[in-house]
Amino acid sequence: MLKFQNTLTGRLEEFRPITEGEVRMYYCGPTVWNLAHVGNLRSNIFVDVLRRYLKYKGYRVTHVMNLTDVDDRIIKQALERGQSIDDYTAPYIEAFWQDVDLVGCERPEIAPRATHHIAEMAAIIEKLLATRHAYASDGSVYYRIASFPEYGKLSKINFAGNIAGASERVDTDKYEKEDARDFALWKAPDQEGEPVWDASFGRGRPGWHIECSAMSMKCLGETFDIHCGGVDLVFPHHENEIAQSEGATGKQFVNYWLHGEHLKIDGETMSKSKGNYYTLRDLIERGFTPAAIRYALLSVPYRKQLNFTLDGLRGIEKTVAGLQDFNARLSEARTEPGSNPAMRSAAARALEEFEAGLDDDLNTSVALASVHNLTREVNTALACEGLRSDDQRDLLELVRLFDSVFNVFSPPQRGMLDTEIQALIDDRQEARRRRDFARADQIRDQLTERGIVLEDTRDGVRWKRKA
Ligand code: AMP
Ligand code: ZN
Repeated sequence: MLKFQNTLTGRLEEFRPITEGEVRMYYCGPTVWNLAHVGNLRSNIFVDVLRRYLKYKGYRVTHVMNLTDVDDRIIKQALERGQSIDDYTAPYIEAFWQDVDLVGCERPEIAPRATHHIAEMAAIIEKLLATRHAYASDGSVYYRIASFPEYGKLSKINFAGNIAGASERVDTDKYEKEDARDFALWKAPDQEGEPVWDASFGRGRPGWHIECSAMSMKCLGETFDIHCGGVDLVFPHHENEIAQSEGATGKQFVNYWLHGEHLKIDGETMSKSKGNYYTLRDLIERGFTPAAIRYALLSVPYRKQLNFTLDGLRGIEKTVAGLQDFNARLSEARTEPGSNPAMRSAAARALEEFEAGLDDDLNTSVALASVHNLTREVNTALACEGLRSDDQRDLLELVRLFDSVFNVFSPPQRGMLDTEIQALIDDRQEARRRRDFARADQIRDQLTERGIVLEDTRDGVRWKRKA
């Protein structure tokens, strides 16, 4: 029986979807103002394991992940560079997809962008104004927390002593508010050149929280099954999403809230603002493989902190190479017909433990331990010819099942980084200068095989990825 630790109720609960056989889930995706770091990728991989395991259990999954492509940081950077928001964010969106592809994540079914859903956000704000859950002040619109007595039910923060003007901590907006806890739904323009949209309640731009209420309900309905994100989002982001959505619809917004713990580095949360981060590219350039990075990020259950170290990752490279080697040896083994009962029961036990682990709030470390136990037993059997052809077939199928969730057994045909492509192009140019055309053609073929098309122009070599 699949169970999740639900932040909303604080309990481990059996998962029951709203519609039999279907799961509708939402994940708060990246703010595309910069490259993602591996902490962000840990959250993506946690959600990837979740969606893959739900599919493994036979559910049809609709997974939505938003792209936050307007916020104060994006506006500031775009203004400084004299670019439009779209031009500024495009390379980061592209890089984000490359990163999640490289670490073997399936793409969500729908990836809506905030700037494409301003009308939906405005419609919710109008409803909240009409029902007095919101008020206008100085051209901005705020959510009136006092109108939603359940505020705090997700984060369990007690706001009782938090009266108007009393809290510095949550009071980050500049304008006049009735209560320090109130948060902006819509911000009046305050800088020359910043993006603005027109709405019935005035010209401005949306606050951050409203985008997730608007896009999740548009794509998944007013009540849906699972909402996830990192722990940093419980308060205020998800608390505010609940207040906005339930204030507007009068219905329960989400049934299960799942929050992933942070990736830490030297005991501190990895983050852009602290500067203590690695991007995926940083790690690949140091020689690490995406499969090992994926394994490292999923091997600790999502609700536990994971301390990231390069030494730890070096050890994991060996573990993953061992799994891939096991997979290759198992497929290539020459076996006699029949089956070995010991192998059959080892396989059945491993499958049971794998499912028991993942059923228990996605306990990946228990599930991986069962995989490792099995590989040890099978390796021993392979060494003393104890494996028969039926076992081999069943075990290969079992590895395929394990890998439908973990996706670490086969060395992935990974995409190439821009820097790797450029290095090969430079080598090819160098070969041509040496008139070593055989080598130049070989490099071109190698790139073609990896989906990179070269075009020789008068201004040099251009390349693009085959669509
Ligand atoms: P952001 O791009 O900051 O909006 O974050 C995108 C996602 O990454 C959110 O779900 C965050 O909760 C998550 N996140 C940010 N930092 C970390 C970290 N150090 N470890 C795990 N997840 C993180
Ligand atoms: Zn969100």
